[in-house]
Amino acid sequence: MSPRAPLATLSADELAAFRTARQSDYAELKARGLRLDLTRGKPSSAQLDLSDDLLRLPTSTRDRAGTDVRNYGGLDGLVELREIFAELLEVDVAQVVCGGNSSLTMMHQVISFAMLHGAPGSARPWKDEPVVKFICPVPGYDRHFSLLADLGIEMVTVPMNADGPDVEAVAALAADPAVKGIWVVPTYANPSGAVCSLEVARALASMPTAAPDFRIMWDNAYALHHLTEDEVTSADILSLAAEAGNPDRPVMFASTSKITWAGAGVAVLAASPTTRAWYLQHLGMASIGPDKVNQLRHVEFFGDADGVRALMRRHRDLIAPKFAAVDDALRAELEGLEVAEWSHPTGGYFVNLDVLDGTASRVVELAREAGISLTPAGASFPLGQDPRDRNIRLAPTFPELPEVETAMAGVATCVALAAAEKLAAG
Ligand code: PLP
Repeated sequence: MSPRAPLATLSADELAAFRTARQSDYAELKARGLRLDLTRGKPSSAQLDLSDDLLRLPTSTRDRAGTDVRNYGGLDGLVELREIFAELLEVDVAQVVCGGNSSLTMMHQVISFAMLHGAPGSARPWKDEPVVKFICPVPGYDRHFSLLADLGIEMVTVPMNADGPDVEAVAALAADPAVKGIWVVPTYANPSGAVCSLEVARALASMPTAAPDFRIMWDNAYALHHLTEDEVTSADILSLAAEAGNPDRPVMFASTSKITWAGAGVAVLAASPTTRAWYLQHLGMASIGPDKVNQLRHVEFFGDADGVRALMRRHRDLIAPKFAAVDDALRAELEGLEVAEWSHPTGGYFVNLDVLDGTASRVVELAREAGISLTPAGASFPLGQDPRDRNIRLAPTFPELPEVETAMAGVATCVALAAAEKLAAG
């Protein structure tokens, strides 16, 4: 294929011809009556099938210590499961709590407990502060932002760079005592796929903060979700913070939602002894213990940390071709036009697509009218507001591969058409 000229360099006549051609592609697309969905980062049925042995587990009712897992108790989770996660997340088993099926719930609890009671280091409960703010690297995970909005916490944004949050911007905002924390998805971030470097992690762990109870919500949801054989290691945020004299600053989260079953997995929190005790003290008011049967089921299923790593390679084999299909479709239609940029993630669940400024909403609308559901434009920004209206999050894991190919060819047509409309309008 001959290299394409950037769309913005075309003459008015050339642009009109390009637009007409894309309109005709789009009419054909619509005529196909598709019903495809690229909205949510969910595992496909084939991925869920990989863990179906869980249906026949556990084979025992007792954990290693002989405790009956069917009964109450064990608030911090089975030690044998905590050991597996400690190895995978490279933390100490004494730092880990294993909970129910959702790490988002644990994140919600940590922030809610801080609001109601204050966190270690707080002068008062956060709800009694005149204003509470949180730093949100953008683009980011929509549910992090809606959680904050729901609790009345103001959001201030910083750019999410290829090596993690923009550290200078974060440090400047952290000089405000109302700023109580930051979200970080350190490995294969949602949606950009960025990996937080050791330097950025160290800076976040050691920077001065005006709030003594500043928290790094270190959401390592995709720690093990490699798409290539280059399996990155996450920065050891708990040790970095402890070395810098800020042991209580980070709280780490992970889960098996995209390892075993998204709706019936196990979630994990890891933190300093003080933060862990604080969390368990408040959690103990709400629960007598987690679902230890499910925890034991996971222990028997995994065997050990290597069992988890092997399972993740089977996931990779299923989903890496879908990510390749996204890239192929975008390149085939858009390469050279300079109307879109997209990420090339080496792990995680998303592709970040930035289209021509001011056209993301139009692309999503065009796609919807052609039967292709995309995440609403702006979803990866606080309150759903992308100031440049250019960001779209693509989630290719759930549909079957042929559906990803069809949907993405259609999305690429919509991107080109929306860009031509915008440029023609001047
Ligand atoms: N954190 C991130 C960054 C996510 O992308 C997701 C799901 O998409 C979650 C957390 C949800 O985790 P869980 O299923 O453990 O609640």
